[in-house]
Amino acid sequence: MGLFRRNGKKRRPAPSGETAGSRPWVDHGLADGETVECGRCARTLRVAPQFASSVTVSHDGALEGVALICTACGQLLCSACALAASDNPYLPRCDRCGGQVTLPVTG
Ligand SMILES: [Zn+2]
Ligand SMILES: [Zn+2]
Repeated sequence: MGLFRRNGKKRRPAPSGETAGSRPWVDHGLADGETVECGRCARTLRVAPQFASSVTVSHDGALEGVALICTACGQLLCSACALAASDNPYLPRCDRCGGQVTLPVTG
């Protein structure tokens, strides 16, 4: 109840204030099957987004040729570049900002 005392500031973020950029792995605007370029080695990658409602995530070799996206800066990367930027083979990272890299999410 004491939380209501914090409303002294008049500026309130709108519920729909989440604009593109805050969650680049969701707000990427990429379509399933689309092709993009890796931001590091410029190879052509296929967009294979995982569905937010799905719990099936495969990380074993299935990432070859598939576009990954940095959750911090939104750069698109291939798995080879993302893994090369990390010293952990199970934790791909962005070569530009060091952010965590994941499959784009849709749905
Ligand atoms: Zn690459
Ligand atoms: Zn990044």
